[in-house]
Amino acid sequence: MRVTIAGAGIAGLAAAISLHEAGFGDVTVFEADSGPDSMGFGLNILPNAVRELAELGLQAEVERQAVRTRELAMYNPHGQLVWREDRGRLAGYDWPQISIARCRLVEVLAAEVRRRWGEGAIVYDARLAGLGQEGGGVRATLADRYGGRRIVESDVLVGADGIRSAVRSAFYPSEGPPPSNGVTMYRGTAWGERFLTGATMAVLGDDRRRLVLYPIDRDGDRFLINWVAAFPQEGDAEEPYETVLRHLGTWSPPEVDLAGLLGATHHIRHYPMIDRDPIPRWTFGAATLVGDAAHAMYPAGSNGATQAIIDARVLACRLATTADAREALQAYEAERRPQMTDLQRSNRAMGPERVITLAHQRAPHGFRDVTEVFSPQELAQISDTYAVTGKFDREWVNTRPSLTVSRPQQRENTVTVKSEAVKETGFITAVIRATEHGRPDAYLSDPYAELLATPRSRMMAEAALARGGTTGSVIVRARFGDVALGQAVAAGVTQVVCLAAGGDTRAWRLGLPSEARFFEVDLPGQLEAKEELLAPVADRLTCARVPLGEDLRDEAWKDRLVEAGFDPESPTVWIIEGLLPYLRLDHFTRLIENVRKLSGAGSVLLIDAPHAEFFRDPANESFLTFMNSRGSAFQLGFDDFGDFLGRHGWKAEAYTLAELAAGACAWVPAPPARLCPPHDHHWVARARLA
Ligand SMILES: Cc1cc2nc3c(=O)[nH]c(=O)nc-3n(C[C@H](O)[C@H](O)[C@H](O)COP(=O)(O)OP(=O)(O)OC[C@H]3O[C@@H](n4cnc5c(N)ncnc54)[C@H](O)[C@@H]3O)c2cc1C
Repeated sequence: MRVTIAGAGIAGLAAAISLHEAGFGDVTVFEADSGPDSMGFGLNILPNAVRELAELGLQAEVERQAVRTRELAMYNPHGQLVWREDRGRLAGYDWPQISIARCRLVEVLAAEVRRRWGEGAIVYDARLAGLGQEGGGVRATLADRYGGRRIVESDVLVGADGIRSAVRSAFYPSEGPPPSNGVTMYRGTAWGERFLTGATMAVLGDDRRRLVLYPIDRDGDRFLINWVAAFPQEGDAEEPYETVLRHLGTWSPPEVDLAGLLGATHHIRHYPMIDRDPIPRWTFGAATLVGDAAHAMYPAGSNGATQAIIDARVLACRLATTADAREALQAYEAERRPQMTDLQRSNRAMGPERVITLAHQRAPHGFRDVTEVFSPQELAQISDTYAVTGKFDREWVNTRPSLTVSRPQQRENTVTVKSEAVKETGFITAVIRATEHGRPDAYLSDPYAELLATPRSRMMAEAALARGGTTGSVIVRARFGDVALGQAVAAGVTQVVCLAAGGDTRAWRLGLPSEARFFEVDLPGQLEAKEELLAPVADRLTCARVPLGEDLRDEAWKDRLVEAGFDPESPTVWIIEGLLPYLRLDHFTRLIENVRKLSGAGSVLLIDAPHAEFFRDPANESFLTFMNSRGSAFQLGFDDFGDFLGRHGWKAEAYTLAELAAGACAWVPAPPARLCPPHDHHWVARARLA
């Protein structure tokens, strides 16, 4: 199926990525501008959409350019607090809320489109200027800035061309320009001091005016603060800086020098606050609308980019799961349009920001305590009602079915899955260890692996082995790690961190001393699933086990670890087993550097990885294809693992399985030849801080 997307904004790019993820083979994005917009104003992405970015493998990359928003705080113009609430992870969502410059988000998405589809997938300077539908497909006319035109034919056209959409105006020719509510928005960014939590979105307002401030980047103690000032236009003729000061100069945002912030802003842009009326149809034959083209709304409640991403994901999901493309577009619209119509209406009443208007009307000169103005129930009700309208209430976001279609079982260790699903698929290596444990000549003793070997895991393990999957690396690295951990503990180390600890049973089976703390980090849900399966042997835990549900590609796991009692000054045994094949090199490099920074003197790293030869050996081709097809592609291997670790601050003794079988390591028993077949090219390593 050929898909044409008009518009390389957030909706269009997210649609292109989602279609690729869903298995489509021919997608091109046409963008009117001659290149990406470089102005770095901020926008927010709510957990609902961050979940989608995570499922597309983009959360970590986006977060690297962003700030996790911790709280929303609303004030009257005197800086008196009207309402505050936790946001993102702190509010119980499984995903964070993110504040980011729009141009950076666009950059990340565009890079991902090019990575997946190739360099030519985004065509700039190609404005959709007309469209026609005949013979079941769509003919789009695209114009460049010199007047050149070309016709592109496709099976489906996606109008992702923003609030002034040409696709929409082809369906609604008499609609005219977007209506304004008479308010002008002034926007800018400037580096400044931290205010409040350093990750707060602060909204100040009376009954007509608003001031919104939040950081979108951080460099040490300095924060890049995004600000938006909105007030009714009164034919202001002076410079934007003076206009904003004249309207809001007496306002007192907490811990912010407003005049200083405005003065430090190099470029202030201003435009009317506009939206679109809800429309009765988005889909016409083989063409449909997404993002602002479908439902542009006032910027209250952080929904512009958020809902654009959700549109893209639902659209790709419906196209991939409905036989007829036109019916798929109808199904997409049926799911999205009623919700977005409600949200557009709610935003015209300024959504949850209504509390500020009410506070001003009830106490125009301020108050001593907000309870003079509102009852707690009244406040909570306003926020809850808004959340449910946009389908981003916590319960729904955390538990709704995934929109990912082509890869229902993605890499267990890189994609967030719920505990039920993990129980079914997450313990394939435990099956291998359980089988080894049951042999009379077992090289590894792991009596509890059997408890993790669910029927589904057994089935998956059998399928992998039938395709040439190897078992030796799993068993040998486990024994290698057991011996090395035992030695470190005997030498007095009492802090252990096991990353991607999904199926690890060491805290139960090694009889570690009671003063030892054994931190396990894995995706939310994974460790709970393991705990349930190991419940019959819960009394075998001899040390203090501390489970942490975190995504290792984020940066947050480090803070969570320390918050959970980890001491970066003490020596630590780090265990990273079976994780590397699934990571991209940049993720692994960041991970290993973070581990080094958290390691006190005397720390030990136990780690394994495929040898690069594994990927070159034709004997592994069938297995690699199999892993790829089930969404858990092996992608990372090393020609010289010891050298790589050395370049990242670790002095390593690294062995291939063949070297271990030949007795190259003096302190671990040589594994039998049956566990080291020639095509199982694999490294196991013990490293100490250099
Ligand atoms: C330049 C720009 C800056 C923005 N800055 C902010 C911001 O700082 N904060 C914020 O909250 N929101 C901002 N927005 C709006 C925000 O991006 C959207 O509300 C939201 O992300 C929905 O995204 P969208 O992809 O539907 O629309 P948009 O982000 O508006 O993207 C639409 C894209 O379509 C292109 N386009 C338009 N007409 C045609 C055509 N005929 N043919 C082909 N391509 C076309 C546009 O150039 C644009 O790249 C901005 C939008 C734009 C275009």
